[in-house]
Amino acid sequence: MSNPFKPSQRLLLGPGPSEVYPTVLEQMSKPLLGHLDPEFLKLMDELKLMLQQVFETGNPLTLAMPGTGSAGMETVFVNLIEPGDKVIICVNGVFGGRMADVAERAGAEVISLQQTWGDVFAPEQIEEALKKHPDASMVALVHAETSTGAWQPLQEIADLVHRHDKLFVVDTVTSFGGVRVAVDQIGIDAAYSGTQKCLSAPPGLAPVTFGQRALNKIDQRKHKVQSWYLDLTMIRNYWGEDRFYHHTAPITMNYALHEALRILLEEGLDNSFQRHALHGKALQTGLQAMKLKLVVEEKHRLPMLTTVYVPDGIEDMAIRQSLLNRHQIEIGGGLGPFKGKAWRIGLMGYGSSRENVLRVLEALESSLLDQGFSLKQGAAAEAALQVYHAAVI
Ligand SMILES: *Cc1c(COP(=O)(O)O)cnc(C)c1O
Repeated sequence: MSNPFKPSQRLLLGPGPSEVYPTVLEQMSKPLLGHLDPEFLKLMDELKLMLQQVFETGNPLTLAMPGTGSAGMETVFVNLIEPGDKVIICVNGVFGGRMADVAERAGAEVISLQQTWGDVFAPEQIEEALKKHPDASMVALVHAETSTGAWQPLQEIADLVHRHDKLFVVDTVTSFGGVRVAVDQIGIDAAYSGTQKCLSAPPGLAPVTFGQRALNKIDQRKHKVQSWYLDLTMIRNYWGEDRFYHHTAPITMNYALHEALRILLEEGLDNSFQRHALHGKALQTGLQAMKLKLVVEEKHRLPMLTTVYVPDGIEDMAIRQSLLNRHQIEIGGGLGPFKGKAWRIGLMGYGSSRENVLRVLEALESSLLDQGFSLKQGAAAEAALQVYHAAVI
């Protein structure tokens, strides 16, 4: 341990953490401030404003919780669930499953709706559950299921949930910044995200937002929030006017989030969404030109996370090791039913670029050729380039 740790320079194209903006890393080496220093409080105010812009909400209770995306998930569930509440959780991948687990630990009776991994939920399925469980207090689902690459449409389900007078909770960890999350327009009552996906900051903070209906639920609580650390009834006072000490904010991570949001808003939300859409399409077209098969049908395919089947006769680990060791590229393996059967390629935030699309296609092509897979060399890059040329016209 006589030398400082020296990590390799990887290209992070997995399901997260994603590539970090260089100026985000620079900001993280700036001098520390105290968590009640007026300069730091000003930074918190700016963070809140920028988070509201990305969530597209006027919700006053919008802030960044300490911890990764999962801490955002816990924050939403422990604050909105009281022991014995019945909640409807939509499970079509790992993160839906995690929501059900977290809700159950918070004391809820969980009704978990199942859908095939890689597919999305239809409004009819939610409606049926709402009719069957009129005493449920919320419906929760995942906007961008990072374990499968499926993009869940929200609007119709949001309308249904409100017609039944329930809270609508959405996991926007991977969608935030990469596709539109319009909280107010859709009518999302509570949402959470993370810094390490399309925001391109390191893992460590979890943006959350709560609307008026969710606040009413919190205000009417009969039991204390089960987690002291994640209790918004206390944390609200630190982010609000009073500035009560609750916990010491992770100062440096807040600098990182500030810079990441600043970059995103400087680019413009729509430009960011278009960029993610373009590079996602180029990657997906390139993979198909290699005769690889994508998991999710086209209309529900996420732009920032693509799942592609491992072709017959090819060994999952051998390819991922070759990508990492020979090309310095990290991609993700499959989870659950896709373990050993699919790869997950992320083009999130700073990582979503033409250069990275071409780099990962070329590296994958050469790794597959090494494994004896038969493909036409250069076809993937050519197909991707055609997507770019078509986009310019
Ligand atoms: C990554 C992710 C999480 C969990 O975030 P962590 O930062 O790993 O704690 C939750 N939901 C979704 C959809 C994710 O992609």
